[in-house]
This record gives sequence, structure tokens and C-alpha cells, in this order.
Amino acid sequence: MRVEFFRHALGKRELERVSQALREPILTTGRAVAEFERRLAARLGLGHAVGVTSCTAALHLCLQAHGVGPGDEVITTPLTFVATAHAILHAGATPVFADVEPATGILELARVEAAVTSRTRAVIPVHLYGVMGDMRGLAALAERRCLTVIEDAAQCLEGSRDGVRPGHLSRAACFSFYATKSITSGEGGAVVTHHQDLAARLRRLRLHGMTAGAEERHRHGFRHWDVDEVGWKYNMDNLQAALLLGQLPRVRARYRARQRIWRLYDDAFGGQPGIERLQLPAGARSACHLYTLLVDPERRDRMVAAIESSGVGVTVNYRPVHLLSCYRRTFGFQPGDFPAAESIGERTLSLPLYPGLKQAQVEHVIAVVRRALKA
Ligand SMILES: *Cc1c(COP(=O)(O)O)cnc(C)c1O
Repeated sequence: MRVEFFRHALGKRELERVSQALREPILTTGRAVAEFERRLAARLGLGHAVGVTSCTAALHLCLQAHGVGPGDEVITTPLTFVATAHAILHAGATPVFADVEPATGILELARVEAAVTSRTRAVIPVHLYGVMGDMRGLAALAERRCLTVIEDAAQCLEGSRDGVRPGHLSRAACFSFYATKSITSGEGGAVVTHHQDLAARLRRLRLHGMTAGAEERHRHGFRHWDVDEVGWKYNMDNLQAALLLGQLPRVRARYRARQRIWRLYDDAFGGQPGIERLQLPAGARSACHLYTLLVDPERRDRMVAAIESSGVGVTVNYRPVHLLSCYRRTFGFQPGDFPAAESIGERTLSLPLYPGLKQAQVEHVIAVVRRALKA
């Protein structure tokens, strides 16, 4: 039996939406994007969404829109996908890492506070595996220290904590529609925010800084446009939006399906010698994006190889960013700098988790993992 690490479940609904989008004269940012933005914002209970080409672009634009640049420091977690830190570099700013809580893997607020300097402008919390950071605590800290909070909510469309959802206690939350995310257009992303002025600025920055996009010019006839500041080419197109519109109505059903698989894994691995799990903080509702195990670091890579050679997809999320070669070389980071993130990074592995998984496949994954524990 083969079990892929991930498989999308796009089909008829998405095809219908795409063929509808193909009947429009213009394929770039237009009606479908606007509709997707409205629905995404409504789903999250926020006023505005701005569709872009990736979460990396979303994070970068948010920093840019807040004037974060060279000489500025932005605090984030080393236990994340490299995109979070890269976005800070794209803005020309300096990433400053703060270690995570050993039990949860989430940015530790006391360490954020300790990392603040006179140059710190922003903090990017990451809702790791779909588990939100303590946004109430972070919002209070940010207010005290005059920092901008931009959430990396790439894995957290469905998550909440203490009743707070992404984007509600920050300037903006950034989402990803990359191939393995909860809803996907292959590549894609969005910024969701309460703030109208920010959304308007992002709409310009995502398209060269132009005062009018192609669709607008098409619809209203030719008008001269202006550029007040240099933007990027990050605009989401109608085909991406069409794919996403097809999936939005099923977000909840797909979430429930992941939760069911999650429980099967929990039942199997709870109390299993040789396996630990990160703790879910009190008050957190996980988006159930990634199911991870913590195993003996001496054995982890052998287990990954054994699971893979049994035909089961497996990944590691994440070896911490500060130990990647370019970050070590540029900033002089060393093993031991962020021990909690490093410890999780050398023990963690991620198992398949998506709605299309059959019970028999989940049982197979469980059996394969148990066998690999002896590898
Ligand atoms: C997927 C992911 C990203 C990057 O998203 P892209 O859309 O590929 O740019 C950033 N941060 C986290 C935590 C992610 O999981």
C-alpha cells in the first residue's frame, strides 16, 4: 500500500469555477479574485482580504506597507518554514529569532520581550502546524513596545485561541494557498486585515504600485494610471481565485475529516513508548494542519527513511531556520543558539493528514510508524 504525504481533493466544483473564469475576457486579477477576497474576509470575520501569489509575498508586502526596511529588526521564531524569515530579508530588514516554548513549539513571549531592541519594528508569530500563538499576550507586549504584529497564519485558516482568530489582534494575518495547505491553488496567498487603509495600500503594492489594474482598465475604458511608489508583481489571478472559490464552502467539512484522522493517530500514538507529542496550549483550537511526532533524535532520520521506504510519505517540519547554511553564514548562528527549537527540529517528523485518507491507509501509516520505531 502506498500513502502519499499529501493529495489535493480538487474536482468538479473547481473545474466549474475555472471554466466560468475562462469565459471572462481577462484572466488576471478581476472579478473572481474580488469574490474570493470578499468570501475569505467574511469567513475570518475581518473586513478586507487581498489576494497575492504566495504567503511569502503576503508577509513581504505587509512589512513593506509598514515601512519596515534596512536597519530595522523583525522578531520571529526559528521553528518555521524558511519563508517567514526570508520575507524579512526581502524587505531588507534583519530577522531576529526568539526561541520557542519547549512544550508547544510556539514562540515564547518572554523571549520575544528579551529580544526587543531600539531597532525592533515588528513581530511575526507563526501559528505552527495550525496552533495559534498567544495573540492576547503578544498584542499586549506589542502595544507596550510599539511593535507591529503580522501573523504568519499559513497553516491556520481554521484555528483559534482563547476565542481569537487570525487577524483579529494584529495588523494583518497572512495565508498560504500552496499545494499542501488547507485550501490550495497550487501557489497563492492572501493578507486578511481589519484595516482598510492597509488593504488599499497592499492592493497597490501587489501590482507595481499602479493606481489601476488591468481588469479595471478593461471594464471602465482606458484611463491613465500613475505609480506613486514602486510595488511588486504579486497579484493573484482569476484562475487561482476560481480554484479557491470552489474549495471555500468545504473548508469546515475538510477540517472535520482531518480531525477524525487526527484522533485515530492520537489514539494510536498516545502512550506509545518512544513517541512524544507537542502539547496543545489551553484554549487553542488547532487547525489540524500537520500531525507531528517527536522521537529520539538519534533515530529520527532512520525512522524517516524506514517510513518512506515502506511507501508512506513523511516530512520534517522543521529543521530550524537559523541553522540553514545561508543564515549561519550571514548571521553567525550556531547550534545551541535556540535550544528548544533545535530540540524539536531534531526530533520531529510529520505524517500524512488530508481528508482523502482512507481508514485503512491511516492504519497502515500507524503500523509502519510502529515498525519504524525499531529501525
Ligand atoms: C507554507 C508556509 C509559508 C509559505 O507559503 P507560500 O505560499 O509557499 O509562500 C510560510 N510560512 C509557513 C508557516 C508555511 O507553512
